[in-house]
Amino acid sequence: MNSPIQEILTAFSMAYKEKGQKVIALVAMYLADGYSVPDAVDKAMQTAAVSSFFTEAVHTVIQKAASAGAGSDIPLLPELTGAWDASGMTLSAKLHGAETEMRQVIISTIQAQQRLGASATRVARALYDGYNSGHIIRRQSLPQYLDTITVFARRSDLTDQDRTTLQRLIRRARRQTENMSADGAPNKSLQTAYRQLLDAVETNDTVAMENAVRTAVEEKSRYVAERIARTESARAWADGFHARYDTDDDVAAYKWTLSSRHPHYDICDMYAQADLWGLGPGIFPKDKTPILPVHPHCLCHLSLVYVTEIDKSKQRNQIRNGGNAYLKRQSHQKRCYLLGIDGARAWEKGRADWRQYMRNWSSITAKSRLLENTADDIIKSEISIGQQLMYKDKGKDAFIPEHTMVIPKKVIAGLGSGSKLRIADKLAQTYGGMAQEWQKVVGVIISDKYLFDIHWYHHKDMGDILFKIKSYTERRE
Ligand SMILES: [Zn+2]
Repeated sequence: MNSPIQEILTAFSMAYKEKGQKVIALVAMYLADGYSVPDAVDKAMQTAAVSSFFTEAVHTVIQKAASAGAGSDIPLLPELTGAWDASGMTLSAKLHGAETEMRQVIISTIQAQQRLGASATRVARALYDGYNSGHIIRRQSLPQYLDTITVFARRSDLTDQDRTTLQRLIRRARRQTENMSADGAPNKSLQTAYRQLLDAVETNDTVAMENAVRTAVEEKSRYVAERIARTESARAWADGFHARYDTDDDVAAYKWTLSSRHPHYDICDMYAQADLWGLGPGIFPKDKTPILPVHPHCLCHLSLVYVTEIDKSKQRNQIRNGGNAYLKRQSHQKRCYLLGIDGARAWEKGRADWRQYMRNWSSITAKSRLLENTADDIIKSEISIGQQLMYKDKGKDAFIPEHTMVIPKKVIAGLGSGSKLRIADKLAQTYGGMAQEWQKVVGVIISDKYLFDIHWYHHKDMGDILFKIKSYTERRE
């Protein structure tokens, strides 16, 4: 099954690649102007406005992923850029860290190529000049010199064809060197071989440098950028998903679902196949799912299990035994992937609980950042009803005045209540906010004569609306 955020991430990568083309051209230009590598990279990143582009692109990915999870358009709420993982870092701190890492990886990739190219050129020139000036390099050290060029050919960012050509020239020079007479007397074919080698090194040095700049930006720095985009958007998707379905009574549980691009065998395979809660392979109670993403580049997701599909009475915590049963079915090698070699041995000998060794295992379960701390806020304060409420006082029309305060008692449907708010979609459509954020609240108004039960709807940003008197009783002293 495709990851629900795959398209969003592909769009991110395309945009990054496009921006990368500008950076590549600028770096090349500044290097040609004689700037040092760090200065050229800094200047290029600044001129291309990489920082603001990157922040905006990651924000877009997060906002879209959360919306995809929730199935409705969610703005970039502050909760979605807050700290959530073990690092305790906010999104902006992570973005700053990623930018530093991107800059560093670009610089070091280019510098490594620069060093390789410089020493290969120096050696090739020494061979050739040494020959011309009659100061022939001592015969014993010649193979060493050629080795430097061999390293250049092997490690540089060259096409296979360029590499093959260069290696052929190195072999020829080596052969000519070996054929050199014992007294080191020069000859014409040796001179030709050295000349060709020098030309090839110089040409390839230019090409390799261009390629290194491209690789540094297009591959290495993109990897860093994509890692943060994937991680944050996987999390945002889960935030949206939980916010939408945690309170949906028709959905009984969630199923761990691997992305079709799931690259390696890991803990996610276990999550998808082990029966940890007695509900069937890969099925988790809604409030017991692991936190997405489970590992870097994890594109797993959750799918819905409806009330008609499982028997909830069978739910029990069987994490240890369910994991054991799963591990028993796996090969020794797969257990090693999951538990490490020591862990696999310890588990096989019955000396360890698999959870001690399982890589990326956490007993902490996911909770949507969009649901955190907001569910009960309404209960903390008295609010004005903002409208007159009509009722009959012993058969005569009467009303509760507009600015009467109501004391909230309980959220009975919607966000944080555990039950579905049936008209949530309509409320969101008419009054704004996300459907899953709306709540139905009950509270009381106490007058001299009566105790009124009041129902209304609350949204943290949209406020309190549609107050109704549900019932009222005469107060007894
Ligand atoms: Zn995964």
